Amino acid sequence: MLELEILGSNATAPTREGPASCYLLRTATGVLLVDAGPGSLLAYCARHDLADLRGIVVTHLHADHSLDLMAWAYRWTFPEKLAQIPLFHPEGETERLAAFDAVFGIPTLPTMHRPIGQSFRAVPMPRDGVTVHEVDGLSFRSFAAHHSVPSAALRFEAPDGRVVAFSSDTGYCAPVAEAAREADLFVCESTYLEADEQALHGHGHLTARMAGRLAAEADARHLVLTHFADPADWDAGREHATEHFTGPVSIAVPGSVFPAGAA
Ligand SMILES: [Zn+2]
Repeated sequence: MLELEILGSNATAPTREGPASCYLLRTATGVLLVDAGPGSLLAYCARHDLADLRGIVVTHLHADHSLDLMAWAYRWTFPEKLAQIPLFHPEGETERLAAFDAVFGIPTLPTMHRPIGQSFRAVPMPRDGVTVHEVDGLSFRSFAAHHSVPSAALRFEAPDGRVVAFSSDTGYCAPVAEAAREADLFVCESTYLEADEQALHGHGHLTARMAGRLAAEADARHLVLTHFADPADWDAGREHATEHFTGPVSIAVPGSVFPAGAA
C-alpha cells in the first residue's frame, strides 16, 4: 500500500485552505512526512498519531518547506522524549540546520541544546539520483532540482513497484523529469500561471503549463499540482496543465488522499 495525503500545499505561508508545503506518504506500517512547512505539525496531529511517524524528508530549506522543523523538534523532546527518527535533507545544508538550532536551542535544558540535532538523526541526501535511502519499507532517491538553494526532487518506490515523485521547488530541468519517470503520482510545483524569466529560470519555479509539460516528458501517470502562489489559481492551473499533459490532473487540496497506482 502506498498513499499520498496532502496536509498542506500552499506556497509561502499557510492560508485558510491549510498549511504551507507538507505531505504524507502512508504505507501499511507507518507514515513519512515530506516537507515541514508552517502548519504541518498541527495538521498532522489533527489526523495522525505521532507514534506512526517513521521519518521526515525535507526537499529544501526555504521556510515554507521547513519552518516547522523546530516545532517538530520541540514536540519530539517535550513533554516526553519520543523515539528518534531520521531527518533527510539535501546534502550541503548541515550548517543551515545547525544555525536554526543555534537560534532556538535552550541552554538550560540538556535535551534541547540543539533541538533538531538531538531529536532527529540527520541524513544528508546527495542529489545524485543514485544514492538509495530507505525508510518504512520505501526506498527513495534524490535528484538535483533547479532552485535558489539546494533543492531535492524525490522519487519514492514501494516494494510492489509503485512510485510517488515530488518535484520540490524547481525550474524546468532534466533531473526532475528523471525523478518523475513513469511515476504513478507526480506531485509537481506550479507556483505561477505566468511568470518572468528570472522567476522561472533564475530563482527556479514552474508555471502550471510547464508542470504539465514536465509530467508529459516524464510520462507520469497522474499529475498532482501543488505550491500555487494563490489558491484562486487552482482551476486555471489545472486547465493550463492539461494543455500539455493528457493524463489525469489533480490539485493538491489539503485533506485529499491519492492512492498510488489508482488514478
Ligand atoms: Zn523554495
